[in-house]
Amino acid sequence: MPSSNPIETQICPRCGGGLAVLFGATPLTFECVECDFRVFDSLPDYAVVQVTQLNTPTRAITGTPGSARQPCVGDMGCILMKLSDGKKLAYEVECVLEDGSTAWVATFEHSELSIAAAT
Ligand SMILES: [Zn+2]
Repeated sequence: MPSSNPIETQICPRCGGGLAVLFGATPLTFECVECDFRVFDSLPDYAVVQVTQLNTPTRAITGTPGSARQPCVGDMGCILMKLSDGKKLAYEVECVLEDGSTAWVATFEHSELSIAAAT
């Protein structure tokens, strides 16, 4: 199980304060140390996620030539990285096909993803 320390990388979208893990909460929950903002369902690094909706039908992707395509609802992927612009979290997710090629690496909003399994 890869250890991650999301505390240092997550910023409250409301006030810019740090987010700390709320102990014992399921799913993983972060609470702002400055205000009462909570992220109830922030996705852990390396989690396996499923695309549940596409807020942006077409987005910038990279992938293996010949296999690269746009993400579809129902695709499964693995979170590579969490991105934050200081206001909102986004997730860089990779979808690997059975032959080992990459269908897409793309950035998603949290509302587009649901967690399938935490590794
Ligand atoms: Zn805050």
